[in-house]
Formats: sequence, structure tokens, C-alpha cells
Amino acid sequence: FIEFKNVYKRFGNLEVLKGVNLSIDKGTVTVVIGKSGSGKSVLLKHIVGLVKEDEGDVLIQGKSLNRLSSKQARQFKKNMSYMFQDNALFDFLTAFENIALPLTETTRMTVEQIRKKVHDRMARLSIEGIDHKYPSELSGGMRKRVALARALVTDPELILFDEPTTGLDPIRKNDVHHLIREFQKQFGFTAVIVSHDIPDIFDLAQQIALLDEGKIVFKGTRQEIMACEHETACAFIRGREM
Ligand code: ATP
Ligand code: MG
Repeated sequence: FIEFKNVYKRFGNLEVLKGVNLSIDKGTVTVVIGKSGSGKSVLLKHIVGLVKEDEGDVLIQGKSLNRLSSKQARQFKKNMSYMFQDNALFDFLTAFENIALPLTETTRMTVEQIRKKVHDRMARLSIEGIDHKYPSELSGGMRKRVALARALVTDPELILFDEPTTGLDPIRKNDVHHLIREFQKQFGFTAVIVSHDIPDIFDLAQQIALLDEGKIVFKGTRQEIMACEHETACAFIRGREM
């Protein structure tokens, strides 16, 4: 479904990705882990075309994003959503408007249909009753959930989560993991999740990939990584290298 083939990316003298190879199957959840600054966000941004590879290919259903027609690119964007690391809510829009945005932008739903959909997502995330509040009036955890609701409002085929639980308390973290799992079961989307919530997040994943020194140095299942047979991966999850 998504394939990184020997992808290189540098910013000036800084080589961030140095030959990344990674395949992500349709309908699966992949968790990407790695040290801070190792390039996890940069990796995700390649999938949406926010960052363009210097060498190699990022293929989506066998096609390079750069070679899609504008119609195909629109179609692709419509079916994916991206939850940014820093939430990226619009400060001048209310919680309701922030969540509704992808629907008002890309679909022809009626106002009533949109209202229903937005309220459904808000209820599932326990953020009812904040329709008219602006992001500045919400707690960090609530902003996170508004961003999550926005990512889940369109029933996307592909979701990219960049640290969806950073800054949340343990109970909220669990809630978010639980929700992602529930939604994934229900809608069967493909997800790529960057997270430091080790090992809790592993329960969600069919595949765990460790990015280190510009490469994917380990990929495997929860069982494989927890068995600690791979030295770098083992050191990483035991917290020695975080
Ligand atoms: P964290 O866990 O802290 O979020 P990360 O693994 O997501 O870290 P990235 O944000 O992908 O790290 O950044 C990897 C490196 O690339 C960093 O050194 C960062 O400064 C650099 N970088 C990222 N984007 C740009 C950019 N647009 N221009 C220049 N340098 C960049
Ligand atoms: Mg990041």
C-alpha cells in the first residue's frame, strides 16, 4: 500500500534519512519508533507529500506521489488524514469548526449530516459540549482530542498519527489507544503511528519499525521486539537510548 524504497533526505548538511526501506500493508497499523530527532516526523511527511525525497521512491499503491495527476492527488488527499505532532488546530476556529473542516472542505454533506458526524466523533472522544470553545480555551489533552476527532471525521483509508498521545496523562493515553483500536477495527484504515508510548502502543501494531541513524534498523511484531533479540531495538525499548 505504501512503500519507501531506499529513500534519502537531507536538509543542508544534515542527512536525516539515509536509505529508508519500509512497506506498509493495506489495513494494518505500523508504529514507528526512534530517538527524538531521528527523522520520524520527516518520514511521515513524505507520505503526504509535505516533504519530498532527494533520492529513492515513496510509492502509494505503486505510484509515486510526485507522479500523480492533480485529480489523483486530490483523491488521495481526500482519503487520508494526518494528525500533526503539534495538533495544528486553527486558533480562530471553534472546536466544532476545527473538527468539521475536512468535511466542509471535501464533501458535499449537508449541514445536518456534518453536525451529526462531528458530534458522533466528539462523543466517542468524550469532548461533548465544547462546540463553541476556541483552542486557547481548552486544555492540552482536549486540544489533542479535538485534533484526533478531526483526523477521524472523514472515515479515511489512511491515517498518519504523529505522537497522538504526547502530553496526555496515562488514563487519557489509554483512552486514545483504545479509540484508535476501535476505529481501526470498525473502518479498517491503514495507520502509521509515531509514538514514544512504549510498549503500550505496540498492542495496536502489526508492525513496529525502529528508525535509527537514518535507516529502519528493525522491523517486526510486538513479540519479536519484546523478545529482545535485536540489540539496538532492545536497547531502545529498555530506555537506554531514548
Ligand atoms: P521528535 O521525536 O522530537 O518529534 P523526530 O524523529 O520526529 O523527532 P524530525 O522532526 O523528523 O525528528 O526531524 C529530524 C531532523 O530533521 C531534525 O534534526 C530536524 O531539525 C530536521 N528537520 C526536520 N524538518 C526540517 C526542515 N524542514 N528543515 C530543516 N531541518 C529539518
Ligand atoms: Mg517528530
